[in-house]
Amino acid sequence: MSFILHGLGVSTGIAIGRAMLMSHATLEVSHLTLAPRLVDKEIARFDAAVAAVKQELVQMREHAEHAPAELGAFIDIHTMFLEDNELVGKPREIIRERRCNAEWALVQQMEHLVGQFEEFDDPYLRERRFDVIQVVERVIKELLGHPGRASLKAGKQTKEESLIVVAHDLSPADTIAFKDHRFASFITDVGGATSHTAILARSMAIPAVLGLENARALIRDGEQLIVDGLRGVVIVNPDARVLDEYRLRAEQIELERTKLRQLRSASTQTIDGVEIALHANIELPGDVPDALDDGAEGIGLFRTEFLFLNRGDMPDEQEQFEAYKKVVKGMAGRPVTIRTFDLGADKDLKPEATAGDRVKTNPALGRRAIRLSLAEPKMFQTQLRAILRASRFGPIKLLIPMLAHAHEIDQTLAAVEQAKSSLRGEKIAFDEHIQIGGMIEIPAAALAVGIFLRRLDFLSIGTNDLIQYTLAIDRSDEQVAALYDPLHPAVLMLLAHTISSAEKAGVPVSVCGEMAGDPKLTRLLLGMGLRIFSMHPSQILKVKSRVLKSELAELAPNVRKMLRLDEPARLREALEKLNA
Ligand code: PEP
Ligand code: MG
Repeated sequence: MSFILHGLGVSTGIAIGRAMLMSHATLEVSHLTLAPRLVDKEIARFDAAVAAVKQELVQMREHAEHAPAELGAFIDIHTMFLEDNELVGKPREIIRERRCNAEWALVQQMEHLVGQFEEFDDPYLRERRFDVIQVVERVIKELLGHPGRASLKAGKQTKEESLIVVAHDLSPADTIAFKDHRFASFITDVGGATSHTAILARSMAIPAVLGLENARALIRDGEQLIVDGLRGVVIVNPDARVLDEYRLRAEQIELERTKLRQLRSASTQTIDGVEIALHANIELPGDVPDALDDGAEGIGLFRTEFLFLNRGDMPDEQEQFEAYKKVVKGMAGRPVTIRTFDLGADKDLKPEATAGDRVKTNPALGRRAIRLSLAEPKMFQTQLRAILRASRFGPIKLLIPMLAHAHEIDQTLAAVEQAKSSLRGEKIAFDEHIQIGGMIEIPAAALAVGIFLRRLDFLSIGTNDLIQYTLAIDRSDEQVAALYDPLHPAVLMLLAHTISSAEKAGVPVSVCGEMAGDPKLTRLLLGMGLRIFSMHPSQILKVKSRVLKSELAELAPNVRKMLRLDEPARLREALEKLNA
């Protein structure tokens, strides 16, 4: 049966392929046949894992006394499942009778139970299958003795290029693992448009739709899917006519891409001859070739935390140094802006952190980014020394995320000084004049930008967080995604104020949030005075094409007028005119 699902289109393009359902539990386990003498031991291992998870739930229950009632109910249901013979008794039998390893036995029984829950008419009971999956995931993680990640393995017969990953939720750590694969697309039930999961989809230039709510439950493995990343639509089992239409559209998109590629070697200038710098945002050293291929004139944002998301420990100085050196050497003399770790919030070092863990407290307002680095001086020194050492191999700039206070900047500068002096003591060469910049992504920083301009060499505006904090919208929550509005007058005021203040102070300023890579906003930002844009490599040529057709002398007064409007409808109208 053909049906359509609607969600948030977070990365444009069209993918046509077969569904590959992903769940941490089912994909992660190995299928082993045990020697008969190991069966008792395996059952004991299974029992111990169940007991450990039960204990974990008891502790959660104790801590959840003052938590919302839903959390308590959720813990109770999980505990109940762990006491149910269907979930814990049956796997024991499977281990004994079929000599399966514990993980495999448990997953087989889980699939059986999920199938039964799917048959219920009552929606509440049907939903409980997700609880079964979650409980099983907990036990499997315990069994594996390490916080596992979903392994992504396509069946041998299927080419990855024709597979569309269907998941309930993908953490940034899951998504970063996609970089080693060539999946056609991915779709999820949850996630906001500027969540890091969405950002990674755009950086890989594959279509993606998030926030579909029930895709993981409704779609079956192997079903044919069309993902329309522009409209945020997923068509399941399309008929021949719809397929033809989308194939045609996919060809047109490819044609436009080929046309854009002709702009690669053109210099980026407005009609009135003003040079604009288009830089790339990267997550891994392996992204450098794409950045160069798309004509990036530098790296405007290297999100270093992604180097480490999939491992659960911190890399040492040498390993970090090698990674930074690889990027700077790869960029062959072009500037490379390395941002210190922005860990915390949805980017958790501990891969076992689930979506639930991430929202337990208020992590986006918590100890993330520079706050975490300053609280962990050893970790910070290791990173600063590694970046400084790499600065010998090319022009590196140091970028600090999430600054709000003058004392944070002062402490950071002192930490850089400390790293420099330790390197001097060891006679290790580095760039003594390395530039240090700050991200403007907290409204307080944008409003009191003078604090930054007086202390730092450059600024970079992180519009993703700036919008999140200005409008009080969790960027990874699909339920408030519709309220995430880059054109909100308050956002535009903060942007315009930051850009013009930096210009007056003679301090270079860039935008490295998603707004910089949206060609619909290129003229608006140019008119505000922005001259440095940093975005995913895949957006560079689209933005370049807008720049080449823009005339600043005409844009600037129009944008000034536009910024006086504070009525959203009129603002949108004015933007349309600007882009006409
Ligand atoms: C931003 O907040 O706009 C930004 C570029 O940083 P990140 O998306 O990594 O938080
Ligand atoms: Mg940010």
